Amino acid sequence: MSETHPDATDPAQTTSPKKLFTHQFQFPAAAAAAGSSSSSSQTKDTNKDEHVPPGYTKLPNGVILDKEGKPCRLCTSAASWRALTQKAKAAPPSSTTTTTTSTNTTTNTTQKQYGQCPPDVEELGRSTWTFLHSLTASYPAQATAEQQTEMRTFLGIFSRLYPCWVCADDFRNWMAEPSGQNEPRLAGRKEFGDWMCRAHNEVNRKLGKQEFDCRFWEERWRTGWKDGRCD
Ligand SMILES: Cc1cc2nc3c(=O)[nH]c(=O)nc-3n(C[C@H](O)[C@H](O)[C@H](O)COP(=O)(O)OP(=O)(O)OC[C@H]3O[C@@H](n4cnc5c(N)ncnc54)[C@H](O)[C@@H]3O)c2cc1C
Repeated sequence: MSETHPDATDPAQTTSPKKLFTHQFQFPAAAAAAGSSSSSSQTKDTNKDEHVPPGYTKLPNGVILDKEGKPCRLCTSAASWRALTQKAKAAPPSSTTTTTTSTNTTTNTTQKQYGQCPPDVEELGRSTWTFLHSLTASYPAQATAEQQTEMRTFLGIFSRLYPCWVCADDFRNWMAEPSGQNEPRLAGRKEFGDWMCRAHNEVNRKLGKQEFDCRFWEERWRTGWKDGRCD
């Protein structure tokens, strides 16, 4: 069975900005502002776009704000985040700071020990897809009514709490597509794995990435490839 996305043949999908992720719209105001320095008035302009959902703001530098207006690191690429923080570092300090040598020493030691930085939208996404596909891989071949209910509940909660909130909104809206064609398929592993692959492809497509051939989801996430490279 080859994977054909239900929307794949709809030409409107490829042209209408409404089909893109909310945080990837190239808002006219944002596009204009991208060429010049950002200001709060420009930021407000981006929110006047008819496609912008309530509470949503994307700054011209690509940083997404959360619903309280604070920068959302987990919604933003590492590059955009770095641009924001470098700009903040370059700004003169607002007050006199006193640093102690012992604090710096502790910080340096801790940094050497752990090294990693908080995730951006991509790292969080990769880790989460690993979890979600592994969830389908360990799902029963034929799920009981209770198992199906548990998974449906989980997906509902997940789609509300996923910390990249713009991603979560898109995922939730996709699942709730009015025709019902994107509702979770939970009868058994095969249906659930195919459904998750389709959900992931929806994101891939909207991000302009190559779609995954869903005939192979199980080799990728459960059995390992038939050529034995994972054995
Ligand atoms: C629910 C959800 C919503 C997201 N929404 C957004 C968003 O709105 N905007 C945004 O910028 N990012 C979003 N992300 C993150 C995005 O999907 C990617 O995880 C991120 O861009 C990193 O991509 P990647 O190329 O490393 O591979 P990923 O897309 O993370 O994929 C990881 C691996 O999964 C395998 N794979 C790829 N496609 C499939 C598939 N269809 N089925 C099975 N396996 C597959 C491949 O082996 C791939 O290397 C979302 C993530 C999640 C979990």
